[in-house]
Order: sequence, then structure tokens, then C-alpha cells
Amino acid sequence: MKRIYLQKAKHQVARSKTIRGINRQIVLNYVRDRSPISRAEIARETNLQRSTVSAIVDELQGDGLIEEIGAGDSTGGRKPTLLKLKSGTPFALGIDVTPRNITVAICDLSGGVLAKSVLPISPDVVFITEQILLEIDKILAKFPAIPADLGVGISVPGIADPNQGEALVIPYFRWTNWDISARIGTKFGFPVIIDNDANAIALAELWFGKEKIRKFSNFISVLIGEGVGTGIVFEGQIYRGERGAAGEFGHMTIGSNSPVQCSCGSYDCWEAHASEKAIIARYNKHHNSMSNNASQVDIIQLVGLANIGEEQALAALKETAKYIGLGIANLVVGFSPQCIVISGAITKAWDLIAEEVQIFADRSIRHELPKAVLIPSSLGDNPTLMGALSLVLARKFASAT
Ligand SMILES: [Zn+2]
Repeated sequence: MKRIYLQKAKHQVARSKTIRGINRQIVLNYVRDRSPISRAEIARETNLQRSTVSAIVDELQGDGLIEEIGAGDSTGGRKPTLLKLKSGTPFALGIDVTPRNITVAICDLSGGVLAKSVLPISPDVVFITEQILLEIDKILAKFPAIPADLGVGISVPGIADPNQGEALVIPYFRWTNWDISARIGTKFGFPVIIDNDANAIALAELWFGKEKIRKFSNFISVLIGEGVGTGIVFEGQIYRGERGAAGEFGHMTIGSNSPVQCSCGSYDCWEAHASEKAIIARYNKHHNSMSNNASQVDIIQLVGLANIGEEQALAALKETAKYIGLGIANLVVGFSPQCIVISGAITKAWDLIAEEVQIFADRSIRHELPKAVLIPSSLGDNPTLMGALSLVLARKFASAT
């Protein structure tokens, strides 16, 4: 039950158009989730009139959102025509900004990536802004036709205000009030949505994650990367807080004397104990005590070494897993989520650390409550890119009210 806020009420008064909008979204989501599906099946499942479903399907086809894919099996009469989301045509442009690189990609309505390019990142914000604009030009030129309202989603490793379209702070590069959304909007005329990387991943999990995750309406996504970010899904939507700054649990106090300094300068934060930087620092400490050569591993290499049984890599991951688990215990106590989804390179070694994370995650939980399930992300090698694209895609499928 939601309180009605009068300052917003004038936008919420029910109109006949609203009901049609709700039905349209329901039909679109049936096609998304159950395709290939026929008009008759949608009518049966939704209890909508067959004629209403047909009219909505015509409208969705006219808007280029769904397409017919030939006939299905007949249960007696004429074979029904099956429907699916329209694929192969550009629908969303995603820009995924990470401390390592920038990925620019175009996908269709089902999230299938049609073209992608990766740029090295520079701390020079003026230079990199120009490079992003040039790269968008190049990727758009690969397609014969681009819709005028192509949506752009930008995922950034920092605090972003999706309502104002501003990247407020990118701590890794010390950028403030980065105007990338406005620059893209001005140059190309596309609508732009910007959000924090962990929020964007949470949205991608909610709409495009494993079926097991999509069933949950209350969960928290934890991104273990250069830092630690969390995205809170509350009743089927992202909880962003004022100016999009919620979910900064990477800076909750988890202990003292962390192996690396947090991006905020502290040695007590979860990020300083549980991020990729912390894993690598622990590895270097183990490794360098055995050899005089300072090692230069990155996280992908370290996870690979753990997977083929290198003891020091495994020890660094297991030690870090404890701190990941302790932070999760705090999230579970505070939010009582149905599940916690973990993403980042460490999920490639999930089998090696799952038990350790679980033991520590369970430590401070009141035992009479059900446990939150821990699930590694299934968004693939680039969950933040999927997050950037989801910022656009999710709006297309979300409820009309
Ligand atoms: Zn911190």
C-alpha cells in the first residue's frame, strides 16, 4: 500500500488511456517472457478479449516492438501465428564506463548486442567525452537506419542522478558533475538515462537475469569490482534514494586495517576489505613473501590461477570471501532480502569461494528467519554493459503506471 503524495497525484489520476496502457504492457511482457506465443494463448492467459489482444498486437507491431515468426502447432483448426520481440534492429545504445575502459554497444529490444566497441579510458574527462561522442558516431554508421528515439543508457562507477541526468561524482577519476548525458542529448537528440553501475546491474538482473532471480521482487545486487557497489531492488524497482545516492554500502565499516585504502581514504570500509583491489593486495602479500619479484597480476589472471589450483591465489580469494560474506550479513540484517546476487570477475571462481561467503554471510543472521539465497550473476562477462542497456530496455517493459 503506497501513500498518495498530492504533489504527484495530478500525474496519477486514472484515465481510460491508463487501462489500455497497462494492458499493452502486459501483452508486451507476455511476448517477451513466453515467446514464441500466439494471440490466442495471450488471450487465454490474461483473460483479455481476443479482439483486445489482436488490437494491442497490431499496435505493438506498428511500433516495431514485436514481429510474427510463422505458424505454430495447431490444436485442430488453423495454425496460430506466433509472436516474438522484434530482433536485429537497433533499439538501445549502452555506454559502460568502468575504471579500466569504456564499452559502447547497440542492442535490439531483446537485449541482443548488434555492435560493440571498447575504448581505453583516460582520466582526462574532456578528451574522453569527445572520444565517446566520436565512437557513437562510428557505431551508428554501421546501421542503415537508426530510430530517432533510440534510447541511450550510461552506467558509471560513481554517483549519478537519473532524474537530472548528471554524473555527480566518479571517485576513481575525481570527476564531478560530468555532463556526458547533456553532450549526447545535444549532439544526437536521443533521450539519455544515466545511473550508477551497481543500480544498473540490479536492473539488468531484475529484467534479464536468471529466471530464479527475476522471480524475486526484493533483492540486493553486490558488484565486486575495483570498488564494491550495491543496487537495492525493492518491490520490483530500484531503490535509488535522494539524488540516486542510495546503496553506497561499499563504505560501510566492516573492520580495520584493510589491505588497501578505500577510494574514500578509509581503511575500515567494506570496499577496502572485499574489492578486487583487496584480493590483489592479499595475493601480492602472500606471493611476495615467497619471492623477491613483485607480481603484477590482474583479477582475471588471479581468478584463473585459483581455478588451476595456485595456493596463493586461492588463499587471497578465500580470505576476501570472508569479508564479502560479512558485508552481506549486514545487508541481510538490514533489508531481509529474498536473495543476494553477486557479480564481478570473482564469480568465475564462485565454486571455490561460495562456502566461505555463505558461512560468513550467515554469521550475524537471526536464525529463526529464512536465509537469503546467494546467487552468482548470470549476466555474462560484462554485467555493467548489460546494466547500461537495461536502463533503456527496462523502461520499455516496465508497468505503465
Ligand atoms: Zn570508503
